[in-house]
Amino acid sequence: MLRSLYVDLNSYFASVEQQANPALRGKPIAIVPMIADTTVAIAASYEAKRRGVTTGTMISEAKKLCPDLILVTAHHTRYVDYHHRIIDAVEQVIHVKSVNSIDEMVCDLTGSARHRDKAISIAHDVKQSIKERVGSEMLCSVGIAPNDYLAKTATDMQKPDGLVVIEEEDLPQVLYSMELRDLCGIGSRMYQRLYTHGIYTVEMLCSATKQQLHTVWGGIEGERLWARIRGQDVPHVETHKSTVGQSHVLSPSLRSHDGATGVVHRLLQKAATRLRQYGLVAAEVTISVRFLGGERWKCAWDITPTQDIVQLTAVMSSMLAELPTSGTPFKVTIALNKVSPVDGMSQPLFNNIGPARESLNASIDSINKKYGKNTLYLGTAWNALSSAPMRIAFTHIPDIETDDDE
Ligand SMILES: [Mg+2]
Repeated sequence: MLRSLYVDLNSYFASVEQQANPALRGKPIAIVPMIADTTVAIAASYEAKRRGVTTGTMISEAKKLCPDLILVTAHHTRYVDYHHRIIDAVEQVIHVKSVNSIDEMVCDLTGSARHRDKAISIAHDVKQSIKERVGSEMLCSVGIAPNDYLAKTATDMQKPDGLVVIEEEDLPQVLYSMELRDLCGIGSRMYQRLYTHGIYTVEMLCSATKQQLHTVWGGIEGERLWARIRGQDVPHVETHKSTVGQSHVLSPSLRSHDGATGVVHRLLQKAATRLRQYGLVAAEVTISVRFLGGERWKCAWDITPTQDIVQLTAVMSSMLAELPTSGTPFKVTIALNKVSPVDGMSQPLFNNIGPARESLNASIDSINKKYGKNTLYLGTAWNALSSAPMRIAFTHIPDIETDDDE
């Protein structure tokens, strides 16, 4: 039975820019937090992806791969505005059950919509409604399946402008074309665990018993995956709902725009380390800066769930571009919110950053653990290394509201 319809916009940030600016259409573009060779692409158009430029590619490298690459500074408010317009467009056709990120949403199929033909026609209507109400550049991949997990998986099987239906009778063979690492809920840790249990392919995963997957996952999540890849409707359970973050009162020498920026990045790098220690990903980043005189600046962004320091740094840099340059910053607070387990099935959106970057993150963590804090850090934090010492316990979970109003 088809129960779920998942909508995933293709190359979302880049498509929004191409929609907003017709001169960018059909061209390789990369969205960047700032125009600099040392930054990374936070998104790329399909024209750029075909040339090897993708999320996380360093711009110096991207220019080698694609010399005519056009860099576009991120316009976050524009992405949020389009996000709401896309939800409205989908709502014209079918109710949106939940919004899972800035470019992903899931709808329940009920009644006659559970029949294949009807579900497919709804998918076409959704695509058409988005094009008509938001714009011709806004393509999406739609997945239709017996549960949200498989519907999300189906959106990954055809891009851009995909439409894939997975029915019970297609299972499990339809999944065999995928790599283990491509499946939601299989991050590098779980990938390694599967390997040590002799499971190397999706086919082997599909033939493992419920008990075997329970053993690999070390708990009920393994059984939930077993059921999900069989098309069973396993309710979503929030296993974690918390925040990793930190506040810091700036020392007088750092009470400047640059000082505050550096401390924010330093706090971010500590928070990201902690997030990885916990095996979590975050889906929201918030920054709050308090100025002498009591003024306050706050910024909150929804992001594709990640624990990757490069992605988080890119997001943070974009957010900080909006930090007022006037006034004297006094205290900064950052938080990584909407966290969930990286290997849990309750994390349908884990953004697979690939083994190279996961090993970069792991290397940062292990080198700093072995040789001491700040042995290895991202350059964004260079001017604030002595601030916010590592000894401050990260188990402290600040409430940004009360923290600011103290
Ligand atoms: Mg997308």
